Amino acid sequence: MSKVSEIFAQARKEKRNNLLETEAKTVCMEYGIPVTKFMTATNEEEAVKFAEKIGYPIVMKIVSPDVVHKSDVGGVVVNIKTPQEAKNAYKKILDNIKKHNPKAQIKGVVVQEMAPPSTEVIVGAIKDPQFGQTLMFGLGGIFVEILKDVTFKIAPITEQEAREMVTEVKAYLLLRGYRGQPPADINAIVKTLLATSQLVMEHPEIKELDLNPVMVYEKGAKTVDARIILE
Ligand code: ADP
Ligand code: MG
Repeated sequence: MSKVSEIFAQARKEKRNNLLETEAKTVCMEYGIPVTKFMTATNEEEAVKFAEKIGYPIVMKIVSPDVVHKSDVGGVVVNIKTPQEAKNAYKKILDNIKKHNPKAQIKGVVVQEMAPPSTEVIVGAIKDPQFGQTLMFGLGGIFVEILKDVTFKIAPITEQEAREMVTEVKAYLLLRGYRGQPPADINAIVKTLLATSQLVMEHPEIKELDLNPVMVYEKGAKTVDARIILE
């Protein structure tokens, strides 16, 4: 069985439709979608060890099937710079989760590289009852949430179509560079869209996928948060 199918089978066995962020990111990696480096710790000492391996600054987040919106419940701590801060963050995250939902099953705390801030984009997929797997693209924050500046295409998409998705949103102007900001790596976005297209076509059991945000740099891109929901 492929690694992706194994992850899906494990989720099913545990009667979950929502993959953990770490599982969703592993699925992404299998398709060459760039994600932040991560390791899941189950105690403070391990968290510090992993932080040193990955290199400060790091981000720590709750790994729990019962927590979907992690920052809403104090499950995310960013910009951790020292072993002491890592230990404190580990305690704080578990504390916050236990306060919000004492019954939450906790798999651990993921330690991940902190992606430097940059232009944020969103790559999504949704299985439309009529059109099947459909891809979504937009820029993060107000562009998607308030201006609804997003575009959709039915999967599978060609490279040409992926490029069109990126260039047809209004906020594309920001990706091209403005006020001395360097242009964003459009090819890295195109690659991510194509990989996502292949992923959802090869796995029709994916009902929803959300890479949000993906940080795009002058060179390369990095997925900071990933969600996958199975049918
Ligand atoms: P959720 O959406 O479940 O609340 P996220 O994983 O998206 O949790 O984390 C919340 C926010 O924290 C992100 O939108 C991003 O701004 C920041 N963040 C999370 N992980 C990282 C990371 N590895 N590097 C940089 N920023 C991060
Ligand atoms: Mg998120």
